[in-house]
Amino acid sequence: MTSPAVVPFLDLTREGNPLQEEISTALRDVVLSGQFVLGPQVEQFEKTLAAYAGATEAVACSSGSEALLMALMALEIGPGDEVIVPSFTFFATASCVSRLGATPIFADMVPGTFNIHPESVAAKMTDRTRAIIAVHLFGQSADMTALAQLAEKRGIVLIEDAAQAIGSECVFRGETRRVGSMGRMACFSFYPTKNLGAMGDGGAITTCDASLAERLRLLRGHGMKPRYFHQIIGINGRLDAFQGAVLNIKFRHLDRWTKARCTLAAQYRELFAQTGLDDDLITLPLVPDTGRHVWNQFSVRIHQGRRDALRKYLLAQGVQTEIYYPLGLHEQECFRSLGGRLGDLPVTEHISREILALPIFPGLKPEEQETVVRHITQFLRNI
Ligand SMILES: *Cc1c(COP(=O)(O)O)cnc(C)c1O
Repeated sequence: MTSPAVVPFLDLTREGNPLQEEISTALRDVVLSGQFVLGPQVEQFEKTLAAYAGATEAVACSSGSEALLMALMALEIGPGDEVIVPSFTFFATASCVSRLGATPIFADMVPGTFNIHPESVAAKMTDRTRAIIAVHLFGQSADMTALAQLAEKRGIVLIEDAAQAIGSECVFRGETRRVGSMGRMACFSFYPTKNLGAMGDGGAITTCDASLAERLRLLRGHGMKPRYFHQIIGINGRLDAFQGAVLNIKFRHLDRWTKARCTLAAQYRELFAQTGLDDDLITLPLVPDTGRHVWNQFSVRIHQGRRDALRKYLLAQGVQTEIYYPLGLHEQECFRSLGGRLGDLPVTEHISREILALPIFPGLKPEEQETVVRHITQFLRNI
């Protein structure tokens, strides 16, 4: 028997339970409608998302991973092509490239933001490079101005992986913009742990290019139009009506939840400032001077090789944490045939050994945050 966590890493019931009746009613309506895949709930969701992201089109699909895959399929990326991706990201950012027979090329990160480094991207460009995927990691936008400039100069496509960053804002070419409207396409995930989470899998692609959106809709349904006449080879990437219904309800609460995440992040900073812990023990995540970080994760760096021991200690105290991500993708076994080696991307390699994500989710209580910070402080002070 394990005792219940004192501070859970994530507790989805705290945001979900107050909406339980409204959601149950909407789900029952889907049951009674007899239309379970795509349909009016999903179309409504697409409209809301496109407007929210500042794009003209949104194509909902079955997951963030399939969104990335379809974005690359729409560009006809395949064998012989290279796509530059950050090494420090979730697996799906790179696996979509490999699934199409193209080659992911891994770039290093900016240590302050954990996002892909434009200079590293520039250094990895070849005449086979077809696209760059910029991930807005942990809820903070990548340096889109610099990346867009690189992509334009080479005539290649810039795609956003906004799976962790719905509602995040940044200054793009002198204007404040939301993620989802800066790249040629942007991919979202509505996996339950994301800032806008379905009750199952879900994803979407936003774009301002109507003909690309049309192509994405074709790809989502096996390239079929009209029925059983296949123009191109697509996949089954459809979103179901139950997820559409849940997402429509939750969308109305997204800005409130985002504000709650920002408040929690500010409180962590305040609490850590009071401890007086030194920078050589722990580094807090950077807060951008402009734009809006939406804090899908609050990831600190634990120095002096003590991250894993701290994590174990916290767990013994009932404080759950996670490691996003323990290895750069260039070090993963499945990508070893690409020739990546330890030493290739030093910043990613260094930070993946230090990073530790602390609990942050709407409904996390102030006393729980105090508990987290108190235990971290106790451990780090005890050298
Ligand atoms: C979650 C995530 C994905 C994949 O989304 P799924 O909906 O889980 O398939 C892709 N990229 C990033 C950065 C993610 O965090």
